[in-house]
Amino acid sequence: MGKLDFRAWLFHLRFTKIEMSEINVQLNDGPAAQVAAPITVAEALKKLDRETAKQALAARVNGREVDLAFTLAEQQNGEAIKIEPVLPESLEGLDVLRHSTAHLLAAAVLDLFPGTKLGIGPALLDDPRYGFFYDVITPQALTEADLPVIEKRMRQIASRNLSYRRDEIPKAEALRIFQERDEPLKRELIDEKAGETVSVYYIDNSPFIDFCLGPHVPNTNKLKAFKLLSLAGAYWKGDATKPQMQRIYGTAFFTQEQLDAWLKQREEAEKRDHRRLGKELDLFSIQDAYGQGLVLWHPRGGAIRKEMEDYLREQLAQRGYGLVFTPHIAKRELWQRSGHEETYGDVMFSPMELEETQFRLKPMNCPFHIGIYKSAQHSYRDLPLRYAELGTCYRAELSGTLHGLMRVRGFTQDDAHIFCTPETVRGEIIDCINFAFALLGAFGFDKFKIELSVRGDGTTNKYLGSDEDWQRAENALVEALEGQGLAYERMEDEAAFYGPKIDIKVEDAIGRLWQLTTVQFDFNMPERFELEYIGEDNKPHRPLMIHRALFGSMERFFGVLIEHYAGAFPMWLAPVQVAVLPITDRANEYAEKVGAELRRAGLRVETNLKSEKIGAKIRDSQMQKVPFMLVLGDREMEQGNVAVRERAKGDIGVMSTSDFVEMARKLVEMRALTNT
Ligand SMILES: [Zn+2]
Ligand SMILES: [Zn+2]
Repeated sequence: MGKLDFRAWLFHLRFTKIEMSEINVQLNDGPAAQVAAPITVAEALKKLDRETAKQALAARVNGREVDLAFTLAEQQNGEAIKIEPVLPESLEGLDVLRHSTAHLLAAAVLDLFPGTKLGIGPALLDDPRYGFFYDVITPQALTEADLPVIEKRMRQIASRNLSYRRDEIPKAEALRIFQERDEPLKRELIDEKAGETVSVYYIDNSPFIDFCLGPHVPNTNKLKAFKLLSLAGAYWKGDATKPQMQRIYGTAFFTQEQLDAWLKQREEAEKRDHRRLGKELDLFSIQDAYGQGLVLWHPRGGAIRKEMEDYLREQLAQRGYGLVFTPHIAKRELWQRSGHEETYGDVMFSPMELEETQFRLKPMNCPFHIGIYKSAQHSYRDLPLRYAELGTCYRAELSGTLHGLMRVRGFTQDDAHIFCTPETVRGEIIDCINFAFALLGAFGFDKFKIELSVRGDGTTNKYLGSDEDWQRAENALVEALEGQGLAYERMEDEAAFYGPKIDIKVEDAIGRLWQLTTVQFDFNMPERFELEYIGEDNKPHRPLMIHRALFGSMERFFGVLIEHYAGAFPMWLAPVQVAVLPITDRANEYAEKVGAELRRAGLRVETNLKSEKIGAKIRDSQMQKVPFMLVLGDREMEQGNVAVRERAKGDIGVMSTSDFVEMARKLVEMRALTNT
């Protein structure tokens, strides 16, 4: 049914006198039944499957989301009306649940603070921090102390098992209702968005009414596990010139157990927050005076960055990549030719001009690597060519979307572009995947989720490239994954417009997934830049091009790493690997000697000669999460030994300096993930 048909049908349902008749309904592709109409979706579901009917939160009727109270009156073209229940434990179900809870929140606020003006209140599914919000202007500004009070009122309303009721009213009537209720923001929305009739929702016997398309749960009884989380400032429509509002954040789940588990993870995540740890451990800073989203790596963060780069460079050399270096800016025409200006223009920094030529900062490295490829003729014998670069890119992300190291404006990709023939592409993909696993594993990630994003069916016009190209590329990716026995999830219609891709997400220490590695085909750029190689047949051919980044961005990976280890890095990554702590001033000279010996062995050492008690020095190193502390007193000095303390285990005994050096070096060389 098309959009217009559906509207006509709804209109028909509402405004024609409906006579009793028999209609056919069907549960998904399952059981069907003939029922007397009109009948609500809830009743029809009961006749199809009692258990499902009990569970359902809403439904899709012939593909359209509706409430369970939606009335079915007649079928079209004699075909059975298809009902798909929206069930708990599905993303769609969570959306309905959270959106309905946002309404409950608004009802509680209105109940407690009459005169409140409401903005919008959507569900959030992608934000790991929150599940929904509602923007409000209360007569007196809210404080954090109001949240438990509002939450309590939400529970009271929920326990009364009130119905969510939808109504369709003429626009003029809707405007009048919200005028009467002195809700100017809702009026503004209706003015802008509504058609001739307006869909409104009530929570019966509560002061709440909303302009909303739904669907919602049938009654407040379905809302059992929710929590209000925080309060933030917000502007109406995100516009600083518009009225200032307060945003109440909360979340909701299907069960209390799910909510509790999530709250625990959230608490754990807060302890690991890389922005806090970054400051405490002196790893990096982002300072407003330099620009939001621009990262300053401090020496201790720099030490970790160096280890990341060293590992990468070693591997690149072993795996036959050539290291390239390219500028941060290029002529604007280049970005026009590459298509970046067209498709990425809104995240590129504005052009700058010199001698009547315009330049733009690079949002990606690809065109530069293409420039290197194009600088010479290539035969099939030269391919594959693999160019790798730690390329620093700039993207004009809006300030509201920036988040610590996770989302920034300037970042360095561990980027590479592989130019190859159709014959070698499968092997290249396999190498990329193996490389990714080796790298992610080396940094301590051992749980992965792989997604294969493909074009899907019936939407071919938004994708570039021929069907043959796509099929071949997809086959190469599938064969590479399946040949390695890797489980993956197929994501239909999620490919980049220029080609299919494999994304690898890692699971961190507290079970969160982070998207890091990406391996992508590109049919677009070889075409735009007319790339060629001479084939065995002596004729020119287009090479295939693969973009791949394993860390993704160095900044983001660093952020994930900080949170994964909660700042307690394994020995080889730790910014300070050994702290040398003399017990008294008498041992200072010996401490400096030991420190120098460790440094000569390539270890990162800090010698603490402050005149503090040894307990304070140990505490300080412990706070800095230094893997090993060497405690030096008179006895150690006389015997040329060190008393070793390990970060997690405490004292592990006295040994000679050279034995300690050997042990420490081994841990570093092996890139060991634990200190045992
Ligand atoms: Zn709603
Ligand atoms: Zn690229």
